[in-house]
Amino acid sequence: MPADYHTHTPLCHHAEGEPEAYVDTAISAGVSEYGVSDHAPAKPEPFDDWRMLEADLPEYWDWIDRARNHANGRLPIRAGLECDWLEGCEDWITELSRRYSWDYLIGSVHYLDDWDFDNPKWLGRWANSDINQVWKHYWETYGRMADSGLFDILGHPDLVKKFSYRPEGDLARFYEPVIERIAASGKAIELNTAGWHKPCNEAYPDSRFLELAAEAGVPLVISSDAHSPNEVARDFPKAIELAKSSGFKETLLFEARKSKTETL
Ligand code: ZN
Ligand code: FE
Ligand code: FE
Repeated sequence: MPADYHTHTPLCHHAEGEPEAYVDTAISAGVSEYGVSDHAPAKPEPFDDWRMLEADLPEYWDWIDRARNHANGRLPIRAGLECDWLEGCEDWITELSRRYSWDYLIGSVHYLDDWDFDNPKWLGRWANSDINQVWKHYWETYGRMADSGLFDILGHPDLVKKFSYRPEGDLARFYEPVIERIAASGKAIELNTAGWHKPCNEAYPDSRFLELAAEAGVPLVISSDAHSPNEVARDFPKAIELAKSSGFKETLLFEARKSKTETL
């Protein structure tokens, strides 16, 4: 079973549970490794109400240490962050990446300018948006994140579909240019199972994106984006099937920001 590297902690104010409980679920699910990747601090602070502050980082490492102590060698516990790709964030991400010994960093696009478009709080804004324009903006932003080379894993690629606002027609016109940029970056994408539990009712990304990414040789990880212990490794058997049927044969494991492959 692949690793589950995309999981959260209560420090982001919208996840729950103790590290011991997350690790217990990871062990009983049989994942090969467990990784913690809470919403990283963003500047200027306070940036929003759904992430840890810079001052929380020591407590975050205490949380990871508790997970490691509890695992006690039964499975590797990796340390990561889910960072937001924001206009002008490069220096801060670089500083964060040097300050601690992370095993991997996940980059995610949750913001288009000042709009955290995946936040249900602003659902009304979707109804008044030009969907085609939002999608263009999203994928252009995602492409710039890939070009930056700052992240090991590019998070939930088509999160923009979360509330089921999708343009008409074949979506490959959005996917192809960005997959080219991701392939050139050499970074991995994730197959994030949380989408199956959101209004879009599909994994992130969809099978069309996965097929194109596999064809382009983009590496893959599978992750749950767990915000509570019972969500660790959720839907992994279904995700493995989807990955295989899309053309993937392996996933990546990370340690100290270096990867190796594991057969699916
Ligand atoms: Zn979250
Ligand atoms: Fe996210
Ligand atoms: Fe997340």
